[in-house]
Amino acid sequence: MTERAHVTVDRVSKWYPTSDEPLHALDQISLEMDSGEFVAILGPSGCGKSTLILMIAGLIPYSHGDIWIEDTRISKPYTNLGVVFQQPVLLDWLDVRNNVLLQAKMRNLPARQYRQRAEELLALVGLEDFHKKRPYELSGGMRQRVAICRALLHDPPIILMDEPFGALDAITRDQLNLDLLDIWKRTGALIGFVTHSITEAVFLADRVVVMSPRPGRVETIIEIDLPRPRPLSIRETPEFAAYAQEIRGIFGRLGILSDAPTNELRVPEGAR
Ligand code: ADP
Ligand code: MG
Repeated sequence: MTERAHVTVDRVSKWYPTSDEPLHALDQISLEMDSGEFVAILGPSGCGKSTLILMIAGLIPYSHGDIWIEDTRISKPYTNLGVVFQQPVLLDWLDVRNNVLLQAKMRNLPARQYRQRAEELLALVGLEDFHKKRPYELSGGMRQRVAICRALLHDPPIILMDEPFGALDAITRDQLNLDLLDIWKRTGALIGFVTHSITEAVFLADRVVVMSPRPGRVETIIEIDLPRPRPLSIRETPEFAAYAQEIRGIFGRLGILSDAPTNELRVPEGAR
């Protein structure tokens, strides 16, 4: 893939209309993501991560500011990207291959021409023997792999992922983290990856965008200068621990984390 993809989010704010006061979800978000980068967007539940992803993809409007992908100002669904959600959203009446091909059908692309690519992608994630299975015959991790293949089918230069592994057990999640880094290397796509796990963000990303609780702001952006390829064991190195600690410190100061035994962020009282 040779297409360039630069994302600019420039002082973007979002208010959701509600039955009483409008809800201030995001406040003056600015960030840049460049071709081929792996950017993690990290913050507690309710800080507006999903909102940000949906706005970048053009799936919901923003209230103020500008979002650009290359020289297009986003004002409607942007098609040259792939999105993966926390739930894989597969259609139970279609087999695995046709769930992947749905991407082509939704875009009015000739599905026949994409069959081979669908098969190659499924092989890439270890599902070469599962083309004919239905989603309900697969494990959670397999279903999420199918959703990733679907997001990659049209070879987009940008992939946005919203807590894609949040519903998986820890071991499957580790494996999918590794698989994702492999896919990223092969496709060269820009990945914007939302998570509320400090460990996952530091493990995957080139840069971690640390967000404050609602209304979500960009608290800071941390460059993760760890070598690649990254094996899971890198998480036990002092360098990795230093990054995780730095981020925990930030969330501590924001009142989201008080020496928590896990790396998962808690929702502060009143933030939902
Ligand atoms: P995150 O993904 O970080 O958990 P969200 O982007 O889902 O956060 O939500 C940010 C805030 O906006 C939350 O307080 C949520 O309740 C609120 N919100 C999200 N979607 C809507 C909506 N359609 N209408 C009103 N409020 C919403
Ligand atoms: Mg969310």
